[in-house]
Amino acid sequence: MVEIKTDAALEAMREAGRVVGQALAAVRDAADVGVSLRELDGVAREVLGKAGATSPFLGYHPSFAPGPFPAVICASVNDAVVHGIPDDYRLRDGDLVSIDCGAVLDGWAGDAAVSFTVGTPRPADLALIETTRRALEAGMAAAVVGNRVGDISHAIGGVARAARCGVPADFGGHGIGRRMHEEPHVPNRGKPRRGLPLRHGLVLAIEPMLLAGGRDDYRAAPDGWTLRTADGSRAAHIEHTVAITDDGPRILTLP
Ligand code: MG
Ligand code: MG
Repeated sequence: MVEIKTDAALEAMREAGRVVGQALAAVRDAADVGVSLRELDGVAREVLGKAGATSPFLGYHPSFAPGPFPAVICASVNDAVVHGIPDDYRLRDGDLVSIDCGAVLDGWAGDAAVSFTVGTPRPADLALIETTRRALEAGMAAAVVGNRVGDISHAIGGVARAARCGVPADFGGHGIGRRMHEEPHVPNRGKPRRGLPLRHGLVLAIEPMLLAGGRDDYRAAPDGWTLRTADGSRAAHIEHTVAITDDGPRILTLP
């Protein structure tokens, strides 16, 4: 079911989203060569805890996963696309890191992700991150009243394909509200003028995930959670929770 939020709910979701933005900013500040993914999870836990927020990631158990997720962030490094489990891996010079984080505050959820490099970056990684950022910008620009979900998908996919990046078919954005994952699904590629019409009060998590090798396929790692590129190329993932309003798209997950 697609839930249209009241203006009061949009204000409440902005507060939940702010906590997500703050957690991601703190994780990014803390991330450096030699820092472990588990330590980064601890940084996000502290931000959520101080804000009185809970994590929609912790204990989350979708049907594809072997067990409940054990952390408040997903930390996906290099060829990991999404859903990486923060473990004792210590970041190395030149790693490309994608951090996904959610928060629930006063019953409302926020969901966002960032990609960045640590140490000396590879130029190709900076280009991939920039393309992913532009894909998100294009998707958000299409998130306006009068458009349809397919217009967002088409905008994201267009930027990805122009840069010869791969786009996984089965994972993408989603509606969000009292639950982190609501209808509709927001694919990262698709046909314009198709799908649900966008209305004031619809809130979507828009989240391009781009694969540098140009292939769309991926594989699940032995942990059952982490998705890695099939060709071993690197991936980037950037996400914002965005409200569609009569005044244009409103990003809810800025710090
Ligand atoms: Mg997310
Ligand atoms: Mg999401």
